[in-house]
This record gives sequence, C-alpha cells and structure tokens, in this order.
Amino acid sequence: MTDSRALAIEYLKQQRLLGGDSVILPTTSSTPDLRPGLENQTATPAHALLTPGASPGKIHPSTDLPPSGLSFDPPSSDLFAADPIQHSQSLADIATLIAACRKCKLCEARTNTVPGEGPTTARLVVIGEGPGRTEDETGRPFVGRAGELLTKILEAIRLPRDQVFICNVVKCRPPENRLPQYDEIAACLPYLYRQIELVKPKVILAMGGTASQSLLSTKQSLGALRNQVHRFRGIPVVVTYHPAALLRNPNWKRPTWDDVRIAARLLDN
Ligand code: URA
Ligand code: SF4
Repeated sequence: MTDSRALAIEYLKQQRLLGGDSVILPTTSSTPDLRPGLENQTATPAHALLTPGASPGKIHPSTDLPPSGLSFDPPSSDLFAADPIQHSQSLADIATLIAACRKCKLCEARTNTVPGEGPTTARLVVIGEGPGRTEDETGRPFVGRAGELLTKILEAIRLPRDQVFICNVVKCRPPENRLPQYDEIAACLPYLYRQIELVKPKVILAMGGTASQSLLSTKQSLGALRNQVHRFRGIPVVVTYHPAALLRNPNWKRPTWDDVRIAARLLDN
C-alpha cells in the first residue's frame, strides 16, 4: 500500500469517528494537511480530504487561521501574596492543595478531588467543565464516556493523551452533574490559572461553554466564541463543544473536528 493510500484510509477512519459519513476529494484544495512534513506533497490525495460541511471559507486566507477574538489577561502569580496557590511550584503541589481545599460547597459531596493530569511539559492544555461520576470515583479527569471520546479526538490530531494536560474548571464534582455555579467557579479558578502558568502550553483547548466562558471571562455563547483564536495571558485559546455534548448531539462532531484542526494548526505553527 502506498503511503498516500494509508494516509487516506486513516483519514477516512477519522471522518467516521468524528462524524463525517462521506468525503469530498476536490482536485485542488488550499486546505493543508496538518501533519508536519506533508505540507509540500501536493500529489498526495489525502491532502485534499475535507469533511463535507467543513468551512475553509471561514478561515482567514493569509494565515489559514480564524481571526483573533477575546484576550483575557488576569494578573499572574504575586509572590508577595499569602495565598499558597501562588507559591506552588509544581502540578503535584497544586494537586495537594486541591485535595485539602474547602473553598466552596462542592467539597461537601465529593469522593475525590480531580485536579487534572498530564505532564508539565504538555504543549496543549485541554479544559473541561468539572468532574462527572467516574472522575469523582477515580480522581482522574475525563475517564468516562466523554473522556473516551476526548482521547479519540486527541489521537486524531496525533496527540497521545498522556502528552496533554487535561483538567477542568472546577476540581470537585457538582452534585448530579449540574453546572458549576458562579461562586464555585470563582473559588476554583486560581488553581486552573496556576496550572496554566506552570505548564505554559502553546495552545489551550476549552471544551464547552463553562470552560470557554470561565477562561475568557465572558458571557458570550459558545457559538459566538467559536471560530476565533482567543488569548489567555497571550496563549492562543480555541473553544469547541464539550465531548459530552457530542455524545448527545452527533451533529456537533463535524464542527468540533474543524475546531480541533485549528488547535492542531496552532500547535504546528
Ligand atoms: N466532563 C468534564 O467536563 N470533565 C471531566 O473530567 C469529565 C467529563
Ligand atoms: Fe476547592 Fe475547587 Fe473543590 Fe471548590 S471545587 S472545594 S474551590 S477544589
């Protein structure tokens, strides 16, 4: 099998996974393949694979990236402050603080705190909303059904899950998986801020409305926030649907794939 055939087959598998039921093979396409080293192989048919409904027209033509969006710049750690979060020097230190945290009422019903996991060297940080039942039981983020889908989405852009830092806005499970409330988010955000500060990722992927609005400090809807490159302390932020929402509404898989490709492109930049 030729390399390009193998590549095409792999793409078709991704399309199926992420919601594409058919593919269009245009004869010319300005859509670059995301993988390093493939940019100049114009003869590769896999290059031209597009999901129907994917909208390259919305992508900025000169950079192939969507336009800039919001920029949120909360002050970074103040070493003169008394708050131990600001002084924590590792992700493990932050996890220790979270394990003892009682700053909001979500501490009352939790089984385990779920600080997040992944290497400090991660180039991508993925942020969800809050732990669900399986996460609360195990203390690990995104290990239920939504987590399995997230793992597949990351694999589709050639990122093994264990190379990504995966976490949530709130670190304790909201009862019955209700939305985290404003005071709970406000109490928990300093942990997320410090995690991002320590990891210093190249790109942040915010999944779902809660993660996107909390991180960018906005009330704008997810729909309004999509298709732009936002910034958190200068770090590019791509927003997309939450994997749990994709399980409920498979129509969102295709736009999610578009968003994830934007994140991948930013990572390769
Ligand atoms: N949903 C989330 O937002 N986070 C998890 O960790 C799991 C499901
Ligand atoms: Fe603390 Fe966050 Fe858990 Fe609230 S959700 S108790 S702020 S760790």
